[in-house]
Amino acid sequence: MSEQRSGFKVAKFGGTSLADAEQVRKVCRLIQADAGRRIVVVSAPGKRSGSDRKVTDLLIACAERGIAGQRRNPEAEAVVRRFEDIRAGLGLPEDSIAALREDLQERLAADRRHKGRYFDAIKALGEDYSARLVAAALNAQGVAATYVNPGAAGLRLSEEHGNAVVLPESYRRLRKLRQSRSVVVFPGFFGCTPAGVVATFPRGGSDITGAILAAATQADLYENFTDVDSVFAADPRIVPEARRIELLTYREMRELAYAGFGVFHDEAIVPAVRARIPICIRNTNRPEAPGTMIVPERPYRGGEVVGVASADGFCAIYVDKYLMNREVGFGRRLLQIVEDEGLSYEHAPSGIDNTSLILRERDFSTTRERHIVRRIRTELTPDKIEVERGLALVMIVGEGMHYTVGVAARATQALAGAGVNIEMLNQGSSEISMMFGVKAVHREQAVRALYRAFFSQS
Ligand code: ASP
Repeated sequence: MSEQRSGFKVAKFGGTSLADAEQVRKVCRLIQADAGRRIVVVSAPGKRSGSDRKVTDLLIACAERGIAGQRRNPEAEAVVRRFEDIRAGLGLPEDSIAALREDLQERLAADRRHKGRYFDAIKALGEDYSARLVAAALNAQGVAATYVNPGAAGLRLSEEHGNAVVLPESYRRLRKLRQSRSVVVFPGFFGCTPAGVVATFPRGGSDITGAILAAATQADLYENFTDVDSVFAADPRIVPEARRIELLTYREMRELAYAGFGVFHDEAIVPAVRARIPICIRNTNRPEAPGTMIVPERPYRGGEVVGVASADGFCAIYVDKYLMNREVGFGRRLLQIVEDEGLSYEHAPSGIDNTSLILRERDFSTTRERHIVRRIRTELTPDKIEVERGLALVMIVGEGMHYTVGVAARATQALAGAGVNIEMLNQGSSEISMMFGVKAVHREQAVRALYRAFFSQS
């Protein structure tokens, strides 16, 4: 994949890319290296090593102490120290840290009656000061950069504190950022409600901010810088030799992310997907690695499967009834029972006389199970009903599957060869994925077998 040097780009940097002064220097170099990187979205400093704590986690702990009325707050000190280390490492003036200390104390002393607001004001501080430091570091190196406050720029969020969604008017307001002469440094993760109160997205929400800005400014590219080289065709912890994926479509990314591909949260990129902005995943620590491009469409060039994904934590309700296919309304009534319990189902593979519903195990408590099974028994009078827990879903994904004969045969053969019993098989109607339900204990074996079948000999 060749680097796209021209065009207007929104570049988002995750927490590990800003974890210390050295990382911030890398970010600054990347911004200097490409004049197209006009909008920079930053996360709060993340972990420097495995045992470290993210600034956002420290801030949450701070807020908890604040709510509990504790005066001693070691996490508040730890947050200030993290930023102080970065500032000092970058050789920036000290006054910014004095302001941070004061700001944090003020937010901790604020009104605690509305817990959501209280938490969000404190959580937002991590991204806010990260952006201020990056802007200062860029200016110190002679790159004109401006810190932009999300509320002032017009990023309006709903009042669901900690789980806010963007309000549509934001896009119009944020469009003007495209005109900025200096590089815009924009904190991720938070915005303001229409009443001007700070609200945050769910965790990992800086990706959402980046996607919103890319859509609002009609960017040519949304670059998402993280700490991995690319998306891999299978989880490298399960298949160490898994290849890199260079090009993916939005639909493929969505299917892979659904079944456990953790590079980023597929829902986070929805604004960029709706605006059909290409997305690129890159590594801040190895910018020379080509990364993965995610695009609206791609030409079919052979290679029917792009990735094998898997996730556990699923369960199934199997319902069997002779002549089910003739019983008008059976499916609707079954789904109604599940809906009445406030559950959403993930898949519904079915046969002539049987149907099954796949649910997330975490939503399906034993009390709920008893209740639902009892209702299905009395209201639908099935011949058999069974609940199976401890299932994993393994998916093969690829636009090319649609054009290829024999994908299912190859996959089932591979699974049989590895001694994995297929509990369930479902091909999505879009024909770009095929899902296998297997026992969770067979998940890794299944992923390895499918990877071998589709990638090893080609
Ligand atoms: N700092 C926030 C978090 O840790 C948001 C983000 O990094 O995207 O969740």
